[in-house]
Amino acid sequence: MVMKNQKKPEKKSIAKKSSREECPHCVSGPETYGYLKRGWVYDVDLARKIVSDGRDPVELEADDVEYCVDNSRIYEQHLDHVDPQYPGILAHLWGPGENGAWEHGHLLIDGNHRAARCLRDGIPFRAYLLTEDESEAILLRGTDRSGNARG
Ligand SMILES: [Zn+2]
Repeated sequence: MVMKNQKKPEKKSIAKKSSREECPHCVSGPETYGYLKRGWVYDVDLARKIVSDGRDPVELEADDVEYCVDNSRIYEQHLDHVDPQYPGILAHLWGPGENGAWEHGHLLIDGNHRAARCLRDGIPFRAYLLTEDESEAILLRGTDRSGNARG
């Protein structure tokens, strides 16, 4: 008698669209944004308070949106959970660049998934701009524009 291989059929997890309830990236709570292994950390909650003063968001060039998205960790499953109409927040960033020279740039500290969603769907992405003073005010860790270390 030939023993039939009674291996149980492997349970295949069916790839289903994850809902907000089971998405770990939909959790709310105090939020900070860390950049470069958290060498820079910004207080996102405070940033949101600052930009809610009635200022107008600016529309970003597609190239800039792409750059922001390329430089942040994007969880694909979360893209359908965000509202692309809600603007992100751009802060100033100061620090030594790859070649050691002092650099000054912008960092999208809020809205990276919204930016990725806009890029994917081909719709414009807008962001509020923080001034240099405001960017320093929300900088929890990193270097300010004078090169002083925080945190
Ligand atoms: Zn989500």
